[in-house]
Amino acid sequence: MAQRCEVCDIVIPAERMEALPNATRCVKHSDTARNKAFMVFGHKTGGEVTVVNGSNREAIRQAERANRRAR
Ligand SMILES: [Zn+2]
Repeated sequence: MAQRCEVCDIVIPAERMEALPNATRCVKHSDTARNKAFMVFGHKTGGEVTVVNGSNREAIRQAERANRRAR
């Protein structure tokens, strides 16, 4: 089963998955590993990926709160 990048949704190459079995991002987005991506579902939209800087704890808290509220 193909693993897709959680950021851009492209299929992560098999070679990368062999090197990094737990990879959830493509090469292009691996540099942003410190950032967190949240899938936020609104009432009308189908869903939206929000990426916050991993060093910004307040932003993470807010995103997590929004994510929880949406479920
Ligand atoms: Zn990507």
